[in-house]
Amino acid sequence: MPAPFNLAVFSTKSYDREYLTRAQRSSPSAQIAAVTLTFHDVPLNPDTAPLARGADAVCIFVNDALPAAVLETLAALGVRAVLLRCAGFNNVDLAAAEALGLWVARVPAYAPEAVAEFALALLQTVNRKTHRAYNRVREGNFSLDGLMGRTLCGKTVGIVGTGKIGIAMARILKGFGCRLLAADPFPTDAFREYGEYVELGELLAQSDYVSLHCPLTEQTRHIINAETLGKMKKGAVLVNTSRGGLVHTESVIAALKSKHLGGLALDVYEGEGGLFYQDHSGDIIQDDQLMRLTTFPNVLLCGHQAFFTEEALTEIAECTLRNLDNFLNRVPCPNALVREGHLLVRRDSLPVRI
Ligand code: NAD
Repeated sequence: MPAPFNLAVFSTKSYDREYLTRAQRSSPSAQIAAVTLTFHDVPLNPDTAPLARGADAVCIFVNDALPAAVLETLAALGVRAVLLRCAGFNNVDLAAAEALGLWVARVPAYAPEAVAEFALALLQTVNRKTHRAYNRVREGNFSLDGLMGRTLCGKTVGIVGTGKIGIAMARILKGFGCRLLAADPFPTDAFREYGEYVELGELLAQSDYVSLHCPLTEQTRHIINAETLGKMKKGAVLVNTSRGGLVHTESVIAALKSKHLGGLALDVYEGEGGLFYQDHSGDIIQDDQLMRLTTFPNVLLCGHQAFFTEEALTEIAECTLRNLDNFLNRVPCPNALVREGHLLVRRDSLPVRI
């Protein structure tokens, strides 16, 4: 009979509950079948951490904040493991987790194609202005004025970060007939099949479209700033489906106002915590930069949904429970970030590969 084990799931949406419950039912592991899942719809942060009382592990998503203070509270409450339902782990202080002896694992690749396909959808929406056409046609306005786009075939696209998602994006764009450039401190032959590696400055100078697919680290925070935006081709389009902190929002607004930046598609935003994944339609949103971004006709914003496919949610739920099963059975987990007091990846090290 497996020992009782409580998993507190934070930032729960109806789909998290549905997919995790389904994954638990279909898990072949008796240990997993015996786990008690407690769902909290609130994010895990300093105010809500006490809700983890009685839990042996917590399960979190992209906008749950786990700085050292929260991890200390969790450890003091008896929590032993942190399971991320996402790939990025910039929201967890891994060094603090290591010091506290907490075990941390993530879902490294739940559907790279889902994110890349969404990035392409954003790019083409801004490029062909279908977001504007959608509204016009509903009002009986069939004018094409202002809807002129550019044919993607033959254009140069710069991919920043050629990991799993960057490669999936390269594969798709190759099919469109694009010329591909990439910047990554750790080049791979997988990308060389599709294009050429160059320095970031050269990528920005040559690309008609730039798509960000690197993780958020100390080195990549605000990798798109006033200086790097200045290096971009006039009229180029920027796509960010990675993490909001890669882009310095004030600079990007200035580049849009000066018309140097020709278009912007964001699935992620640096101030998204506390806003995204919730309905604020009846609220006065206090974030002036976010609100300014919504006023540009050539900007498309989405609420961090690139991952949101049936296939990805299935893999997220199943992988999260496989990770937990590894933890419970004390077997090496390929997705662990911190185990037995050892940090398997340093936040300031590149690449973020395990
Ligand atoms: P990955 O670890 O497979 O690849 C990341 C790549 O970025 C690596 O090749 C790494 O060498 C490279 N890199 C690191 N620092 C760099 C730098 N300074 N310049 C250029 N490249 C650099 O990760 P992945 O699975 O491809 O995911 C990429 C990111 O996408 C994740 O970190 C996550 O933040 C984001 N993501 C977003 C969503 C979403 O729903 N919007 C979903 C999944 C992942």
